[in-house]
Amino acid sequence: MTATDLRIPGPTPLPPEVLQAMQREMIPPRNAEFRAFFSELLEQMRRFHGTSETVVVLPGTGSSGFEFTIVNTLSPGDKVLAITCGSFGERYATVGTMLGLEVVRIEQPWGSAITSREVGKALEEHPDVKAVLYTYNETSTGVANPLHEVAPMVQKHGALMLVDAVSAAGGIPMEMDAWGIDMIFSGSQKAWMCPPGLVIIGVGKRAFEAYEQAKYPRFFWDLKLAADRAKEGNTPTTSPLTMLYALKAAADMIDAEGLEQVYARHARLGAYVRRGVAELGYRMIADEEYVSDTVTAVTPPDGVDAGEVVARMKSDHGIDIGGGLGKLQGKALRIGHMGWTHQPELERTLAALSDVTDKLRD
Ligand code: PLP
Repeated sequence: MTATDLRIPGPTPLPPEVLQAMQREMIPPRNAEFRAFFSELLEQMRRFHGTSETVVVLPGTGSSGFEFTIVNTLSPGDKVLAITCGSFGERYATVGTMLGLEVVRIEQPWGSAITSREVGKALEEHPDVKAVLYTYNETSTGVANPLHEVAPMVQKHGALMLVDAVSAAGGIPMEMDAWGIDMIFSGSQKAWMCPPGLVIIGVGKRAFEAYEQAKYPRFFWDLKLAADRAKEGNTPTTSPLTMLYALKAAADMIDAEGLEQVYARHARLGAYVRRGVAELGYRMIADEEYVSDTVTAVTPPDGVDAGEVVARMKSDHGIDIGGGLGKLQGKALRIGHMGWTHQPELERTLAALSDVTDKLRD
C-alpha cells in the first residue's frame, strides 16, 4: 500500500523529500548551523502566514494551539466569544471553559459558516468580549469560514482575533497582517505535508501587548520565551530536530511550487472532488458558498450507509477516507485533499467511491 492511499483529512501523505529529510542525523540544536537553518525556516513561515511579525514553531499538535493562544493573551474570568459551526469550534470553546474563561458560546447549524453577519451581531450583543475564538476551516463539516472578512471587523471592534487554522494553513490563503489576525495556529500534519508533532503559531503585535496583561501561569507555552528564542534562531527547549527537518523540506517544496500555485492547486482539487462526489449522488454538508478546498464532507445517497462506505473503501480498495465527527458520526464521510495531493490519487479515490457506492446501492 502506498502513502497516496491516505485520503483522510490529516495526517496527510508525506512527500519523498520530507521522508528523506527525516533521515538526517542530529546536530547540536544551539549551534550556528542550527540557528541558520531554523532562522530560514521561520522566515519562510512568516511569508506563508502573510506576516512581518512573529512565527514560533514548537513541539505539540494542533490542539496545543487552543491553549497557547488563550494562556498568552487572556486571564481567567475574561469574557470571550466563540461562535461554533462544528466539532473543532466546539473544542476551542470547551478549552476556553476548561481554562476558566467566561465563554459566550453561539452555535451555528453544522454546515453553515460563521460570517461577519453572525460575528457582528454577537459583538453588538456582547461588546465587552476580549477575544473571538474562531475556526478558519471547520474540518468536521468541510466549511471554510470567511476569515478575511471577519478578522478586520473583530480588529476594528478592538477584540483579539484568535484563530484555529489547523486544516487551513498551507492549503488556503492566510494573510495575517492584511486581515488583522492576532494569533493563528496550525499543526504540521495537514497541508504542511509533515507528520504530526509541531504546532506553528503566527503572532501579531496586539497579541504581544495582550501578553503583558495575561495572568495565566505558563512555562512550556510561554509566548515571550518562544519568541525571544525564535529571534535568535532557537527554540526554548531541546529542538524537535527531525520534525523541523521535515517542515523545512516541506517549506522548500512550497517555495519551489510557489505559494499562490499551492493555493491554486488546492482550489482546483477541491472543485474536482466536489464535482466528483456530487455526480455520485453525495450531498455536501457545507453551504455552497463556503466549501473548503482542503476537505470535503458529505452525506451519502439515500440507502447508502456512511460507515459502510468508509469500511469498503478500505477493504475493497485500500483507501482510507474519514468518517463523520461529533454530531455527524456514522452519518457523513470526509475526503482530505490537502498537502501533498494531486489529481491522479483523487481520480483513484473517486473511481473507488463510485464502485463502492454502486455495490452498496445494490
Ligand atoms: N482544529 C482543527 C480544525 C482540526 O482539524 C484538528 C485536527 O484534526 C485540530 C484542531 C486538532 O489538532 P490535533 O489533533 O493535531 O491536536
